[in-house]
Amino acid sequence: MSQTAIRSAIFLEEMGVGAHWSLRNRPAALAPAEVVEAAPEPVADAERPVPAVERPVAAPPVRVQPAVEQPVPAPMPEAVPPPVMPPRVAAEVPAVPRAVAEVPAAPRADDDSTAWFDEAPVPARAAPVSDEAIAAMDWAQLRTAVASCTRCDLCATRRNAVNGRGPTEASWIALAAGPSRLDEKDQRAVAGEAGQLLDNMLKAIALKPDTDVYVTNLVKCRPSGEDGADRPPTIDELTACRPYLHRELELTGAAMAMTFGQHAARGLMMGPAARGKVMRYGAAGLPVVATYHPDDLLRRPEDKAKAWGDLCLAKAARD
Ligand code: SF4
Repeated sequence: MSQTAIRSAIFLEEMGVGAHWSLRNRPAALAPAEVVEAAPEPVADAERPVPAVERPVAAPPVRVQPAVEQPVPAPMPEAVPPPVMPPRVAAEVPAVPRAVAEVPAAPRADDDSTAWFDEAPVPARAAPVSDEAIAAMDWAQLRTAVASCTRCDLCATRRNAVNGRGPTEASWIALAAGPSRLDEKDQRAVAGEAGQLLDNMLKAIALKPDTDVYVTNLVKCRPSGEDGADRPPTIDELTACRPYLHRELELTGAAMAMTFGQHAARGLMMGPAARGKVMRYGAAGLPVVATYHPDDLLRRPEDKAKAWGDLCLAKAARD
């Protein structure tokens, strides 16, 4: 029983009211704040009994709802601006030392690239043989010297030096300007189809290629351009190789010369040259007749008639 009910019971008993009436269908559990104090019914003064002793009635306790402290929301954090990064300054980036950057990477064991081979030091060029030494050579020495010659830059690009061919003693000498790609490959002066046509031209004037005519080039190594194509020899290359030609003329004893192609004619004469006349070469006055190269005649067969005239001129000059 609550304090209120106890106090009400005491109050009613003191007033002689008797039984204490309570609320029907009272909820089993009412919240304390919802309990309504039953007010005493008014009693007429005449009927009101005089209490024997006036007891002070204690004031009902005042329910004080405890103040509920509302949670104070935490202040929203102020937006923090993102940190400002200092601008990147290129000068502050330490540069890689050049000495380190230029060190070539060592080839891996499984690296089959040949790029490293290009960086191998070029072996020093052997000392060139002198004019005097060439002038004293026999055939064997001459061929060996040509094969390993370093007298001009063509030695750096040649695949093979090309020596002359034919008899070691010959009354005629046939001269071309320089080895072609095929000559270099076959290591034969005026090789292939051009060589066959040359032999036929010589036979046409009653010469035996195997016994009468020595065939050679003014330069023994193939001149080639940057594109790899054949090119005529330069004056420097002609000059460097000239001692070998002079020695071939001496060793063969040739008394008549024919040049094949305009570059051969100009290269031998070291200047202007012309077809249709007998030119003279060197201190001995070697007779020279110029005509077309067999390769030219293969491309332009209509020039064979002119070539036939050149051959007849040379034959007449020799006889
Ligand atoms: Fe020697 Fe003559 Fe060849 Fe030049 S062209 S490297 S001079 S053989």
